[in-house]
Amino acid sequence: MTYISPYAVAAAIALASDARAFVPPPGGVSRGGRLAPTTTTTTTTARNMATFPDSASDILWTPSWKTGDRDLVVGPLGKYCEDLYSVSRRKTRTVTCGPIKFGSDHPIVRQTMATTDTANVDASIEQIIRCADKGFDLVRITVQGKREANAAAKIREGLFKRGYTIPLCADMHFQPVVAQLVADAVEKIRINPGNFADGRKDFDEKVYESEDEYVKEREYLVEAMLPLVRKCKDLGRCMRIGTNHGSLSSRVLSYYGDTPRGMVESAIEFADICRSQDYHNFVFSMKASNPLVMVQSYRLLASEMYRLDWDYPLHLGVTEAGEGEDGRMKSAVGIGTILADGLGDTVRVSLTEDPEYEYEPCNRLSEMAESRLASMNPDAAARQSAVRTYVDTRDITAYARRVGDHPTRRDGEKVDASLFLNPNGSMMSAVRPFMLSKDSAPYLYKELGFKTAVGMPFKDIATSDSIFMRTLPSSDDVDARSALRRMMEVGTGVIVPADELERNPLENAVALVSLADAVATNGKLPAGAIRLAVEIDGSEDDATIAKVKDLDPLMVSICISDGLSQLHASRRVFEIFKANGITVPAIHHYRTNASDSNELALELGTRVGSLLVDGNGDGILIEQVGESVNFSVDFLRNAGFSLLQGCRMRNTKTEFVSCPSCGRTLFDLQETTAQIQEATGHLPGVTVAIMGCIVNGPGEMADADFGYVGTLPGKVDLYYGKEVVRKNVPNEDAVDSLVNLIKSYGMWKDKEEEAVEEEVPIAA
Ligand code: SF4
Repeated sequence: MTYISPYAVAAAIALASDARAFVPPPGGVSRGGRLAPTTTTTTTTARNMATFPDSASDILWTPSWKTGDRDLVVGPLGKYCEDLYSVSRRKTRTVTCGPIKFGSDHPIVRQTMATTDTANVDASIEQIIRCADKGFDLVRITVQGKREANAAAKIREGLFKRGYTIPLCADMHFQPVVAQLVADAVEKIRINPGNFADGRKDFDEKVYESEDEYVKEREYLVEAMLPLVRKCKDLGRCMRIGTNHGSLSSRVLSYYGDTPRGMVESAIEFADICRSQDYHNFVFSMKASNPLVMVQSYRLLASEMYRLDWDYPLHLGVTEAGEGEDGRMKSAVGIGTILADGLGDTVRVSLTEDPEYEYEPCNRLSEMAESRLASMNPDAAARQSAVRTYVDTRDITAYARRVGDHPTRRDGEKVDASLFLNPNGSMMSAVRPFMLSKDSAPYLYKELGFKTAVGMPFKDIATSDSIFMRTLPSSDDVDARSALRRMMEVGTGVIVPADELERNPLENAVALVSLADAVATNGKLPAGAIRLAVEIDGSEDDATIAKVKDLDPLMVSICISDGLSQLHASRRVFEIFKANGITVPAIHHYRTNASDSNELALELGTRVGSLLVDGNGDGILIEQVGESVNFSVDFLRNAGFSLLQGCRMRNTKTEFVSCPSCGRTLFDLQETTAQIQEATGHLPGVTVAIMGCIVNGPGEMADADFGYVGTLPGKVDLYYGKEVVRKNVPNEDAVDSLVNLIKSYGMWKDKEEEAVEEEVPIAA
């Protein structure tokens, strides 16, 4: 028999009776959790516990991956998604969460997390109602202890009374007993395998000599989990086994390392406990703040589920993504990529913003995913099937970037073409002739990220490497030509379609030629051009694409034609490159008519990020198309650099990892994040984590260099790596203290002041 402490039983009864927990008023629900005319009720069933294992030794564990037993028993790792060549949703079971359902037979569930103090029942109810009214299907609340568990029951009751049946999920860390209590009151429990049973993570190294030693420690996991699993099963609650890269248990870290494999194995262990009780009403998540780790972990888990014949739904999210366009971009890179694989049944976009603001990106990513499904959208199906046949050989178990050969300067060249690209990822900006006028050129230099000295531009850390001009200023426009020449002299490539160069030559330009034309002319350059760039639109046959090798261009521009799936057609190009040993740098030319900056961030993250996270691509060119020009050159340049940074290619600014905040947060996270960004945002290569609480913060900071973590009301601890180096710093001194800390570790540089320059005539 399972032992449940008298305290737990008494408290659960008190909790349930106090809140008359979980008795929704008559009536069903519509989207957003409001009452609708039909009736939905929740029933519980009695069950004979004795028929299910009570101890670790009785559980049928999934065979070990590490020893190779899994391969022997269920065969080698195989596919990770339903179809590599067409977006098809992975078939998943239906998991019921109060009035909503997760799984491939249902729409993607949009969810968020409250940021209020859960103990503040009224404020929490109001915020959850705002989230439900926005359209969210589910809201998570943090539950630190019994006080919050009781509050959760009151929140549930208060929502019912207001006519809201939107389900609630209790976010649990470290508190198995409280998790059982709150299961009375909410529809879903999220547990973190990294800390649910392991207690506070101490980062101590444990060394396991053998698999036997490692599995022996499962006994205490089982002890902690069984009562909750049984209760969830009896009450019809659902569960999320929510693994986080940054908070793996020291046990898992020691045995598997800080790896996607460790995340997956940790989740499988907890799933085995659920399955041992014939409890299957759960979903998995594999979150990380690094989108590459996140993508690899979800794919690996999906792949394991295929070979184990498991069909549990996936909850997708990138943790601590931050805020604004960067937060949306990073989320889109991770979530958008996995959704494009046909994986994912529920989405949460974690932003350091009020939860209502998460709805739009969450909903748009879900909509984009649904619109890409071949089964639901004939246009998408046509674009996917129009891609020529290829064999996808990507290895989802390891990240390896295909790095294009960096160009070198050739003898006799008047400009240095080696500077036209950056080996860590190139950013190219589209420029129009009017921007080069005498009055506009100084602004253009700034927008392209140049520094200037006496009116002359020079490249800086985040300057566009090259520019793309569909049309050139006429040859007698002295000012514009002079501005172009100045940029070229400091190593900026000017890429221009060859037919435009034929009409309007430009010395030292890079001629952009379609692959078909380049093959037909054997790479002949227009007069004045020094290098060739080849444009591939994805319609070319394999043999033609293989000819890129003979043409030896500076770069290829991948600009997939509208009738083809960009994702699949681009993957095909990279497969042909791989098969033919083509190592030319490949730039994604992304054309957009987006008019909203957040939408653009989601588009870039999803459409281009999903290629870069596979290591496919050496940079990006963003071009606005359509009637209106919606974004400045500066905005698009920053968006491009954010994408490269989000895909872990090129760092041009400080990397911030900021938690989305929740009921545990001990300071104003949005305001503090803004202050820290202002003070330290100019330090490329430095990662700063801003975490609202000590409970979860240190564990979830992952690989940050410095951490700013709330410890007590009004106090923070500062970390260097995983070590606390300044304790209980008053909030008002903490930002300065963080700056001093960065200085003391030699990672600081002063901000460059904007020089006020006299206007210098542009014409040389
Ligand atoms: S780190 Fe932030 S989001 Fe995570 S539990 Fe703490 S306050 Fe909440």
